[in-house]
Amino acid sequence: MAVDGLSVQLTAPNGRSYTQPTGLYINGQWVKSDGGVTLASTDPATEKHIVSVQSGSKSDIDKAVAAARAALKAPAWKSLQSSDRGRLLYRLADLVDEHRETLATIETWDNGKPYTVALNEDMAEVTGTLRYYAGFSDKVFGQVMELSPDKFAYTVREPVGVCGQIIPWNYPLSMAAWKLGPALACGNTVVLKPAEQTPLSILYFVNLIAEAGFPPGVVNIINGRGSEAGAALASHPDVDKIAFTGSTATAREIMRMAAGTLKNLTLETGGKSPLIVFDDAELDNAVEWAHLGIMSNQGQICTATSRILVQEGVYRRFVDAFKQQIREVSRVGDPFDEATYQGPQVTRAQHERILQYIDPTVFTDVTPGMRIFQEEVFGPFVAIMPFRTEEEAVELANGTQYGLGSAVFTTNLTRAHRVARAVESGMVWINSSNDCDWRIPFGGVKQSGIGRELGEAGLEAYSNVKAIHVNMKSKL
Ligand code: NAP
Ligand code: MG
Repeated sequence: MAVDGLSVQLTAPNGRSYTQPTGLYINGQWVKSDGGVTLASTDPATEKHIVSVQSGSKSDIDKAVAAARAALKAPAWKSLQSSDRGRLLYRLADLVDEHRETLATIETWDNGKPYTVALNEDMAEVTGTLRYYAGFSDKVFGQVMELSPDKFAYTVREPVGVCGQIIPWNYPLSMAAWKLGPALACGNTVVLKPAEQTPLSILYFVNLIAEAGFPPGVVNIINGRGSEAGAALASHPDVDKIAFTGSTATAREIMRMAAGTLKNLTLETGGKSPLIVFDDAELDNAVEWAHLGIMSNQGQICTATSRILVQEGVYRRFVDAFKQQIREVSRVGDPFDEATYQGPQVTRAQHERILQYIDPTVFTDVTPGMRIFQEEVFGPFVAIMPFRTEEEAVELANGTQYGLGSAVFTTNLTRAHRVARAVESGMVWINSSNDCDWRIPFGGVKQSGIGRELGEAGLEAYSNVKAIHVNMKSKL
């Protein structure tokens, strides 16, 4: 699909050769950026340059938005039966399965996450999410409201329109699937800007979108810098919605930019999620989940349970067992090596940002006023502190600006549910951590975001409810 000069043949460190597109994808075509600017992609494991890709400017965003607007009105998409939209999404998921080794290779090369994780977790998340929303394509219905013998009303669910989607680097393709799945199932068109640290996998994925049969202009992909391409998208007057995943600081900027035309917004932002371990918890289970909850994906997870609160009676035992778990499981190494649990952080800048908070990365006896208790670090970095009572645990859990995830470990059934209700967060795990699922709504409260992705709730972010009043009386 890629035209001359906008694709290169690459061989990844695991020996896999493939064709890497490097262009912008607008209206079903690979094109160069208007500004002639490129973005360098780097292998975080070696810090070697992989390839440079086109970096979109404001005028490229203008073209992509115009293409998305035209596609929204074109019969090829607008008049497509809802079941056929679903079929396109199913076909896309099948193509991802066929190309999963290549996609996982690119993800590992560009992002640094272990290959086994990219292959078995990220790609499963992509296909699972696409298939879940494929099934919803022909099940997004309105309601009928009977008011009197002379009047009724009905609602229809319409696409929101042209959706700008801005995504982060920690799960490049999964984050794209979370946003594309429901947007396309509901009949929207999209301009997506990936994170500048991980521009590659989505470009390969685009060819699969075309092969699946989506009409030109339905999905447009513009790599580029947040301050340029991202800002142009968030402030564009002809974009109806912005869906963003990233930091809380950037989300504030985006809200400001989107305010100009009062855009519909979904924001998934940062977190400092608590994991509470009560004296009566199954300690080994708590230790294993607590480890996964902060150390998987190099700690680069917005819902990472990065504050561990442990009841006094088991505090020392928990801390010792947790450190032991890290020694046994968190093997740091080459992301293409199967034995590696922990690859490099996504960039040197991110690595250094984490180290600002100091080394090593397990802090015990933390107090609530400390920065490491309040600020999102976004790395394999955890603050552990003891508590006495359930009341104190809930107060500590709720003592930050964030409210994304949370976890509770206890064998006391009523306490588990009571604490789950009392914690201020969009998600609570009882006796687990971060085992997210595309069938379950995902999102935050407080400064962790607005709106929900995934699950049936994720459809609400991509459809407007129109109410149609029907009067059957001929005289007022
Ligand atoms: P970020 O700066 O907020 O970036 C996220 C996305 O927004 C990227 O595509 C970025 O482009 C773009 N962007 C940056 N500035 C922009 C602007 N002024 N206008 C429009 N778009 C803009 O986040 P990051 O530092 O790369 O990622 C790490 C942080 O993201 C973490 O600290 C964490 O808080 C958050 N995060 C949250 C979630 C979640 O699901 N809630 C998931 C992952 C990450 P560039 O790549 O060019 O900067
Ligand atoms: Mg990279």
